[in-house]
Amino acid sequence: MTTGLVETANGPRPGGVSQVALYPVATLVQKFGGTAVGDPDRIRAVADHVARTVRQGNQVVLVVSAMGKETDSLLRLADDVSSTHPGREMDMLITAGERKAMALMCMALHDLGIPADSFTGSQAGFLTDTEHRNAKILEVRPERVRAALDAGRIPVVGGSQGVSTDNDVTFLGRGGSDTTAVALAHALDADACELYTDVTGVFTTDPRVVPTAKRMDRISFDELLEMTATGCPKPAMRSVEYARTHGVRLHVRSAFTWQEGTWVDEEEPDMEQAIVSAVTYDTSEAKMTISGVPDQPGIAARVFRELAGSGINVDMIVQNVSTEGVTDISFTVPHDDLDRAMSTAGSLATEIGAGGVTSDSAIARVSVVGAGMRTNPGVAATMFETLAECGVNIQMISTSAIRVSCVVSGDRAEDAVKALHENFGLSCN
Ligand code: ADP
Ligand code: ASP
Ligand code: MG
Repeated sequence: MTTGLVETANGPRPGGVSQVALYPVATLVQKFGGTAVGDPDRIRAVADHVARTVRQGNQVVLVVSAMGKETDSLLRLADDVSSTHPGREMDMLITAGERKAMALMCMALHDLGIPADSFTGSQAGFLTDTEHRNAKILEVRPERVRAALDAGRIPVVGGSQGVSTDNDVTFLGRGGSDTTAVALAHALDADACELYTDVTGVFTTDPRVVPTAKRMDRISFDELLEMTATGCPKPAMRSVEYARTHGVRLHVRSAFTWQEGTWVDEEEPDMEQAIVSAVTYDTSEAKMTISGVPDQPGIAARVFRELAGSGINVDMIVQNVSTEGVTDISFTVPHDDLDRAMSTAGSLATEIGAGGVTSDSAIARVSVVGAGMRTNPGVAATMFETLAECGVNIQMISTSAIRVSCVVSGDRAEDAVKALHENFGLSCN
């Protein structure tokens, strides 16, 4: 961060003496989520906040999502019109949401005397691969954004979009605006990337489920990555990965209260780590079981190679003890992929002489995350005891160095989250 002499927003004092104060001058990328720009009043409120930040001498680049739930509405509209959804046309449709929001935001800024220019992902220099609806960023060439900044204008960039190597408009996937913001912060060497949302930061668990959940002042990239991989919707997991890889400091905060939120950065080695920092849950996956699988080398490899070949992202995997030369293999897949996964696994089961394939959509994965787990034993035991005390049966278990996850029945997920949050001492008093 650089420091400079900046005139305060109050301007010259009465008596003609200019009030000059020492302010830290920062380059900030500020991203506003759907709720934060959900209606005309919200857009004006964001413009006002940006105007204040700029008048304090900071350089600001804005990234906006589509207003409110507009992305969902556009997806529904596509369903209503047609059952064929060519990727190219879907991306052209979905990115219209962000295009609307960025143009309106510029108008609101102009009203406040702040010159601003909107940029599509393509204009902002986001070059992506050709995988429509879920394109990956290959390169960011932010020349036009930088030029606007240098000219004293506020660049307002449409989130989650780019242009492919085939010159088509691409969408970076759901939640992709967070990734746009982080990638821009890296490309512009910004001091921080601020992600504004409808809660005041990252909480010890979903505040909608546990109202006594606490906002964290800071969290490490590793912990937040585990949280987002296991159900915490904010910020989008890809953006946290990008930020960790490139060392972009994140600040997750509220667009409604403007108070200091949660800072995300590297773990400080000398800091004592919380054993458990957060509890997460995820109801987006289903469980599949292939039963009576011949217990021979190469069979699991074949099953998961076929599933991967159908583009299915398999998650937790458990193989039972073999009896009489056969075993059961269970794993989780995203709900959206369940039908495809069932048909792939069904044909394979016949080929390899397995007993059959079953699925259960009503499951949830509850997880506890904490960097201090690396050095403190007993977290898994406490988790299992807590679930046992509330009569929640564990169907599958998986762990990483800083996480323990259990698959439980979906209708018990909230009870499990509440009990774990309480037993690990995370609630506010
Ligand atoms: P946006 O619309 O800003 O992109 P989302 O609606 O996708 O944001 O995500 C924000 C929501 O995530 C919050 O309203 C909150 O209820 C939920 N949430 C779940 N778990 C957590 C958590 N651990 N910390 C903060 N928010 C959480
Ligand atoms: N508007 C898109 C979505 O709802 C992208 C984003 O906001 O991150 O997923
Ligand atoms: Mg939201």
